[in-house]
Amino acid sequence: MTEAAGEESRDSAGAFTNWAGTVTYTAREFRRPRTPEELAALVAGSARVRVLGSGHSFNRIADPGPDGVLLSTAGLPRPIEVDTAARTVRVGGGVRYAELARAVHAHGLALPNMASLPHISVAGSVATGTHGSGVGNGSLASSVREVELITADGTAVTVGRDDARFAGAVTSLGALGVVTALTLDLEPAYEVEQRVYTALPLRGLDFDAVAASGYSVSLFTDWREPAFGQVWVKRRTDRPAVDFPWAPPADRQLHPVPGMPARNCTGQLGVPGPWHERLPHFRARFTPSSGEEIQSEYLLPRAAALDALAAVDGVRETVAGVLQVCEVRTVAADAQWLSPAHGRDSVALHFTWVRDEEAVLPVVRRLEEVLTPFGPRPHWGKVYGVPSAVLRGRYPRFADFRALVRSLDPTGTFSNAFVRDLLDG
Ligand SMILES: Cc1cc2nc3c(=O)[nH]c(=O)nc-3n(C[C@H](O)[C@H](O)[C@H](O)COP(=O)(O)OP(=O)(O)OC[C@H]3O[C@@H](n4cnc5c(N)ncnc54)[C@H](O)[C@@H]3O)c2cc1C
Repeated sequence: MTEAAGEESRDSAGAFTNWAGTVTYTAREFRRPRTPEELAALVAGSARVRVLGSGHSFNRIADPGPDGVLLSTAGLPRPIEVDTAARTVRVGGGVRYAELARAVHAHGLALPNMASLPHISVAGSVATGTHGSGVGNGSLASSVREVELITADGTAVTVGRDDARFAGAVTSLGALGVVTALTLDLEPAYEVEQRVYTALPLRGLDFDAVAASGYSVSLFTDWREPAFGQVWVKRRTDRPAVDFPWAPPADRQLHPVPGMPARNCTGQLGVPGPWHERLPHFRARFTPSSGEEIQSEYLLPRAAALDALAAVDGVRETVAGVLQVCEVRTVAADAQWLSPAHGRDSVALHFTWVRDEEAVLPVVRRLEEVLTPFGPRPHWGKVYGVPSAVLRGRYPRFADFRALVRSLDPTGTFSNAFVRDLLDG
């Protein structure tokens, strides 16, 4: 992993691909501007542009299409400016969480949460509503207080929390412009101890109690039986400990994906460590997850967690046939118009599939059928089949988002097939 985001994944013909190698970007041209002036001129002179973050999405969200430019921010300055008095950090568009976390920790400060891996870019993550877990933790976009963009005519626009456009400007799918910097809220650094519990049955599960038994809790199952083989509980050492009476603790370090090496994972067995070395599951210098995979994820109301798990249990054998592992997390409601956790405390059902699109897509469709009664909102960076017209109905502020796209990008410079279909398809 290079420190700057993106660019390391190519196919055998040299074309850029996503991290998983499951999507080859079809861009006409790849550009890597080195100064803000070069960036502004490039954007103003291009009809179609999409920004590549760290390429960890599993669909065509970042692909500009054959008439477009795929733009990397890796050559641009990558500021990480910590304001210890204000407890904020201004971070460049191409910075990954691993680098950001180390820098803010060195100042005695912390982010409130992280995703399962620190390899991903900050700008690309908040653009898709990326989240970690925790009943009290919003998506990573919840920490953002200001967004700096280069819009289609090359003009710089800053949108802060007091701006009426803000709720559309963070989880924006890259459709508004090039995010050159974000300012995030921080808090004093804290320590976390992580314990994994094994063999928690689905039957009789007190989901709310389990989900609230730590600062961040993840339940893992391969759906080969109705049980969670691993429950990862991350507790802040500055908060009162909560018992976990439902399953025994593991006696050794584990990896959530069967067969993968446990050394790739952050420290477990209750050994306290800095927040950024415990909140992600995977260590920065190691391969996260399995590497050979496709991912899907759906956010639905947390109150429906048990019913939704029962629905998945009903198609367990179909799901298990192409599944590496399923992770169940919680995400607190947030206000971003396009956040999958918009306006509702959510449970997130994540699926790491085998890397076989032909076998996986019919299962994704079946899964979506059984989850439909819960109004699932798919993760924007993962594989899903829910039609755009249905999705639009699941976002009460969708029309506001569309209007914001039209006002900031009237020429559709930052549009692509994914965004066009979502807005109007
Ligand atoms: C192994 C693995 C584990 C994952 N774990 C989690 C998890 O725990 N939680 C979770 O929610 N998701 C998870 N994801 C999904 C991942 O967080 C999202 O796909 C996220 O968007 C990745 O960020 P990226 O920078 O790689 O985005 P990319 O795929 O590069 O881009 C995503 C979108 O952001 C836009 N974008 C990127 N940078 C900019 C910029 N500077 N300006 C404007 N637009 C920009 C792109 O154009 C694109 O539309 C995981 C993915 C993988 C591969």
